[in-house]
Amino acid sequence: MIEPGATIGILGGGQLGRMIALAAATLGYRCHVFCPEPDSPAKLVTPYATTAAYDDRAALTRFAASVDVVTFEFENVPGDTAEILAGLKPVRPGPEALRIAQDRLKEKDFLRSIDVATAQYREVASAEVLRRAVRDIGPHGVLKTVRGGYDGKGQVTIRPDTDLAAAWRSMGAELGILESYVDFICEISVIVARGMNGHWATYVPVENHHAQHILDTTIAPARIAPEVAMRAEAIARHVADRLDLVGLLAVEMFVTATGEVLVNELAPRPHNSGHWTIDACATSQFEQLVRAICGLPLGSPERHSDAVMKNLIGRDVERWREALTEPGAKLHLYGKTTVAPGRKMGHVTRLLPRRS
Ligand code: AMP
Repeated sequence: MIEPGATIGILGGGQLGRMIALAAATLGYRCHVFCPEPDSPAKLVTPYATTAAYDDRAALTRFAASVDVVTFEFENVPGDTAEILAGLKPVRPGPEALRIAQDRLKEKDFLRSIDVATAQYREVASAEVLRRAVRDIGPHGVLKTVRGGYDGKGQVTIRPDTDLAAAWRSMGAELGILESYVDFICEISVIVARGMNGHWATYVPVENHHAQHILDTTIAPARIAPEVAMRAEAIARHVADRLDLVGLLAVEMFVTATGEVLVNELAPRPHNSGHWTIDACATSQFEQLVRAICGLPLGSPERHSDAVMKNLIGRDVERWREALTEPGAKLHLYGKTTVAPGRKMGHVTRLLPRRS
């Protein structure tokens, strides 16, 4: 067990790292944040920080020497970085979970190999292969970069009248994945914490609404049938188990009109759709991560309230004062000084009486 007083290393300095550090501080841990940006949201809440590139071996070695366990707050950490650190200190979740989650093809192959349903998909390495893939899986799809895409970046919708050569060029990467278009009625996610002893804590499925491909609102719990919710939770636990994951796993899923649940994406880290747990649950996703990676017992994921979480994106943040006077609203700002379109600046969680 890594006891309170020890130091948790966090790769990545964004708002997720900031909220991990705040939860860790509540339990008496220190956090050391490693990221290339000097003035990042996570570095503003802890005095222990390294500003260096993710492939700076000497800096990574010094960082490892100063911490007791390493976790990460985004999955696009270079694979080698996680491997180097894993040779020096426990990295939780481990490099294998990262390797799968940062490559959409590996992710889908893995999900299929453990009998988890996904959209149909094909690897695409050229406009010609894209043409064949469209013939195979149908004319309505989504072409995505295999690596590095997030918040809808590197994604192109394919329709029967799409110019496939132009679509291939606009994706802008050497390797893509074509997925069949899922006509979903609802997008949900499930966050599960898994401890070193294989114990679970699963948060209720939540419903996610996007604007311009960026998460805009999360409604907790999701308005889905109880049996669909149970299946979604079981899928998330199954995936975490087969990854032998220690930490947090967020599983994004589509629910179709017939109640089918298809997994879209995995994130082995805290997730934007779990921010509501800070204010509405006995144990937040961030505290749960700290407990899991330090070998502490997991906390209860039970919610005392229902909640609606609204991201403050770009200039939305200028309305921060309104949230302060609204009963039941809780404001979270990430300390970012530069406002940019699409940039997540903070969020507001609105608590509601629990209905079920
Ligand atoms: P992703 O980056 O994979 O999370 O995709 C961003 C958003 O694009 C998702 O939240 C969905 O709203 C939409 N999307 C992604 N893949 C598909 C798909 N195969 N079918 C329909 N919509 C999709």
